[in-house]
Amino acid sequence: MNKFTMTINGQQSQSTQYVDVINPATGQAFAQCQQGNVDDLNQAVASAKSAFNAWSQTSSAERKAKMLALAAALEANMPELMALVTQETGKPMGGLNNVGSGMEVGGSIAWTQMTAELELAVDVVQDNKDARIEVHRKPLGVVGSITPWNWPLMIAIWHIIPALRTGNTVVIKPSELTPLSTLRFVELANEILPAGVLNVVTGEGDVGHALTTHKDVSKIIFTGSTQTGKNIMSASSCNLKRLTLELGGNDAGIVLPDVDVKATAKQLFAACFHNNGQTCAALKRLYVHASIYEEVCQEMAQLAKQVSVGNGLDEGVELGPIQNAKQLQIVVDLAADAKACGGRFLAGGNKIAGEGYFFEPTIVADLTDGCRLVDEEPFGPIVPIIKFSDVDAVIAKANENDAGLGGSIWSADVVKATELAKRMECGSVWINTHGAIQPNAPFGGIKQSGFGVEFGLYGLEEYTSIQTLRIPK
Ligand code: NDP
Repeated sequence: MNKFTMTINGQQSQSTQYVDVINPATGQAFAQCQQGNVDDLNQAVASAKSAFNAWSQTSSAERKAKMLALAAALEANMPELMALVTQETGKPMGGLNNVGSGMEVGGSIAWTQMTAELELAVDVVQDNKDARIEVHRKPLGVVGSITPWNWPLMIAIWHIIPALRTGNTVVIKPSELTPLSTLRFVELANEILPAGVLNVVTGEGDVGHALTTHKDVSKIIFTGSTQTGKNIMSASSCNLKRLTLELGGNDAGIVLPDVDVKATAKQLFAACFHNNGQTCAALKRLYVHASIYEEVCQEMAQLAKQVSVGNGLDEGVELGPIQNAKQLQIVVDLAADAKACGGRFLAGGNKIAGEGYFFEPTIVADLTDGCRLVDEEPFGPIVPIIKFSDVDAVIAKANENDAGLGGSIWSADVVKATELAKRMECGSVWINTHGAIQPNAPFGGIKQSGFGVEFGLYGLEEYTSIQTLRIPK
């Protein structure tokens, strides 16, 4: 069985403690990774701290060149990284709408390249006979990154690259469920970066906790659940760490009566089910106007029955398993609750018998707000379709939820849709698409979906502090 190691201060760790990593398509171990502990974490932070001075003094051009070299390393190792992502997460190599490990590694390359090209310029806010006042952006120091299991490599890249680009050093702790693609990427990156600039430590809750409470860590960037985000926020108050918290979503999509039902249903299905619904900004509450409700429900059900589910390594598979047994149980419980609420199951509703953590792609009609499946984030292949007839009322319903990550309006009238979109309470809102993130546009949540943004110049700024410099004339 392949064994994967931590990289601390440019060296592969010699630890002899290993744990199994499970392929969710089989429920069986397929590799092993080193199990880090708090001592490893402390060493990693110490090495990041001592590397910070030299790295933060490098020129922007030097760091840009290094980031482009990291993109090239990702590209050169794409097949290996894709296979790792598919085996640790279960997602297909290709996948529904091409959202699979090919996209995960391809997106990682694109994000790295585009972030490399970004530049935070000095802002001159005054230049007159009295003084010139410049606003500089300075790196923060050691950044701690904590990543989840749904997009392990892509989210690691989203955290690591802007942090390094702006002159910080990094200690990353991947999810214990999906550590391998991150361990391998950090190993490759250490052939390019100076020792200590990028370190990775695996481990359980105590390692994550030690990172968030470490006095030499200046910022935590976290993607994961709202509850863990809250724990991190209180733990990291010890030294006033900066925080970016990208937490769960329960994105609403509102479908107006003027859409082309067949074409729209196809797009809606992909927006709900890509990566088996295990994406923070997947469409999770689908509100459809009464005049087209039944038609949309039937189209979606048809698509759910047709989509191919299986082992992500097999050709033609569109949806894989749920990533872990705990998440599968959440989906099972929500399906049972939806049944008890009077939900009409138009497709799916059950676990798929056999090995692995599979659940049928499931469409549930006739639910309303107040049912758990509508109110809570399922993070799996199950979607409630809710009927509405009044646009103002449905916007209010969509906004009532505690989450505020993304949302979408679907209509043939883009002007009208734009006006409605502006009324939605969420960090990103899309028209006639959903979850269309890109490296130059800021992305982040409001309300219980967190705070701070990632991507583009706005995202880069989050890894810096402002220094105002007054130069007398
Ligand atoms: P968590 O939020 O618990 O885990 C995410 C990451 O945080 C993991 O690396 C985990 O490490 C780490 N972590 C957990 N507790 C702490 C802590 N106290 N201090 C520091 N780090 C910590 O997510 P789960 O895996 O439990 O998923 C639960 C729910 O979260 C899902 O049902 C889904 O709704 C949501 N979720 C949202 C995601 C998003 O993209 N926004 C991604 C994944 C899940 P370890 O795994 O080693 O415990």
